[in-house]
This record gives sequence, structure tokens and C-alpha cells, in this order.
Amino acid sequence: MSRTELNQLGEFALIEHLTHEIVIHNDETLLGIGDDAAIIENTSACTLVSTDLLIEGIHFDLMYHPLKHLGYKAVIVNLSDIIAMNAIPKQITVSIAVSNRFSIEALEELYKGIKLACDTYKIDLIGGDTSSSHKGLIISITAIGVQQKEKIVKRSGAKIGDYIYVSGDLGGAYLGLQLLEREKKIYIENPGVQPKLDENRGIIEKFLKPEIRKDIITMLDHAKIIPTSMIDISDGLSSDLIHICRQSNVGASIEEANVPIDQEAQLMALEFHLDPITCALSGGEDYELLFTISPSDHEKIKQLPSFYYIGEIVSPESGVKLKTSKGNLHEITAQGWKHFN
Ligand code: ADP
Ligand code: MG
Repeated sequence: MSRTELNQLGEFALIEHLTHEIVIHNDETLLGIGDDAAIIENTSACTLVSTDLLIEGIHFDLMYHPLKHLGYKAVIVNLSDIIAMNAIPKQITVSIAVSNRFSIEALEELYKGIKLACDTYKIDLIGGDTSSSHKGLIISITAIGVQQKEKIVKRSGAKIGDYIYVSGDLGGAYLGLQLLEREKKIYIENPGVQPKLDENRGIIEKFLKPEIRKDIITMLDHAKIIPTSMIDISDGLSSDLIHICRQSNVGASIEEANVPIDQEAQLMALEFHLDPITCALSGGEDYELLFTISPSDHEKIKQLPSFYYIGEIVSPESGVKLKTSKGNLHEITAQGWKHFN
């Protein structure tokens, strides 16, 4: 691949170069990149805003994270926060700081991933900022979404007796990361050895290029179900369930046998001598949704595919507990899995 140094283009030319193919998908976006500020036409709905900061070496490792996937994932993790409020993401801004270690071509790859996520989920990239950094890559993304006030779902609305649901299999991203870390170590010791990753594309992709569960939001809306509380699983089921319980002032009881585990992750956990259920509970970054619904919506949700009932909301005095398949009760602790390393 050819390498063009960043200083061959000025800042304006670089922004233009990286963003000239960006298209606007939403009518509410009146003005995108190019002026001092973007313009979004306000409607009667609420605007939701969420930001994340990703720093090389802390939140991602470029040794195994291809830049295109990284751009995609950086957008996804932000959109997921908007989705987790039961809202529809519409726009993002992207700010980057890069050192001269990166070439124009490297940034093109990053923006290809950003654009792919935007086109896949009909998101408008409406602005950002560009700076140089002393070392490494820093990406900050802000996502903007909309929803009618009555449909917005917070972490704080769970009530005793509510049912707890998860939108999909867990543990995949965590084991994908374990595998990448193992192959990285092997590669550092023996650069001649090519990593064997083909057989585990599913979990590796779950980690490197996750998706948002926008389909779940749409499905719930069509079924006229508004969850009582919701969060996206970024830190792990345990710690994210604890977030809901703390903010709703309730306890929870979930059943081990009901926690959905990614099949490929299950096999990989055994290879690593890890307990698959621990991986599903504590492994993060799957970006599935964890939500509670009122018992009155139970009949409606049973008609829908792809939801996993995992337990019930109980009184705060009962704590947050896991009932094992053998019938034992364990206190769930927030072993929030700290991102990446
Ligand atoms: P200002 O000097 O007003 O901060 P800039 O020159 O930084 O303006 O940005 C010019 C335009 O390009 C603005 O619309 C800004 O939002 C957009 N922009 C700057 N950097 C990026 C980036 N990394 N990604 C997307 N848009 C960007
Ligand atoms: Mg600027």
C-alpha cells in the first residue's frame, strides 16, 4: 500500500479528502460539514446526545484492530448508547487527533469504516474537529438521536415484578478479544507464524466490528412495548444489570440456565479453561440490549422472536442474584470488564 504523509495535505484539504463522499440521509439535517456549525431542524421530539472518547493503547490496539473496523466500531458504540435510550440515532460528529505515524491512506481506511456504519444505519456525519497528537490516535464521537418524550427509556425505571430480557447471545466479543490477545502474543514471540483466526470469525467479528440492535427498538415499537428500563451491554451483563438495579433502586434475580451464550464463545471458553457463564456475565462489548418490561407486556413480547427472558426484578433488599442450574444463589458483583486491556 502506498503511503502519503499527513503534512502533504493541509488541514482543510485533509478534512475535504476524508469527507467528500459523505451523504446526508435524514431530512432533519439541514446542513452538515463545511460551515462553523451543522444545523439540525428541531421537531417536537426530544434530542438525545451521547459522547465517547477512544484512545489508542487504552481503548483499542491497532496491532489487531484494522482501521476500517475501528472506524466502524467507534461509530457503533456511540449509536448503541442512543439505541439504549429507545431512541433513533440520526447524526454524529467525529473528532480525531493523529500523530505523523499515520498516513493519509490510514485515515482513509478509518473513514471508510465510519462511512460504512453511517450508510448502514442511515446516520449523517455532520461535523467534527481535526488535530495533531504527539503520539497515537484519539477518536471522539458524539451521537445525536431523537425520540418522543414518552418513549424514551432510562436506566432508572425498573419496577419490582418486571421481567428482565436480553436481546442476544453474550460472551462473543470477550472471547474474540481473548483470542486476538493470545495470537498477538504468539506473533510477537514468533513473527513468522501467521495467526490462525479463520475458524473463529464469528467471535472475532463480534469484537472488532459489532452492530447496534436498532432492529430491537423497531420491533418493540411495532409491538407497542416500551421497556421500563434499558441499557446496552458494554461492560458486561453483571455490571450493566447492577447499573439498572442501582438507578432503579431494585434488586434482580436471574437464572443461569436462561443466560444466552454465544455458541462459538462457549467452545472458545473451554479452550481457554474459562467458565462460559462467567464470560457471558462479565465479558463486555457485545452491545446487546438489556431491558425490563412490565408484566402487562409479557404476552406481547412472547410473540416476538429473538428475545431472551433471563429473570425478574425483585425488592432492593433481595440484592442482585444469580440462580445457578443446581439451585444455588450467588450474589452478582460488578466485575465490570475494563475495556480491551
Ligand atoms: P473550525 O475552524 O470552525 O473548527 P474546521 O476547519 O475545524 O472548522 O472544520 C471545518 C468543517 O469540517 C466543519 O464543518 C467541521 O465540523 C468539519 N470537520 C472538521 N474535522 C472533521 C472530521 N475529523 N470529521 C468530520 N468533519 C470534520
Ligand atoms: Mg475545528
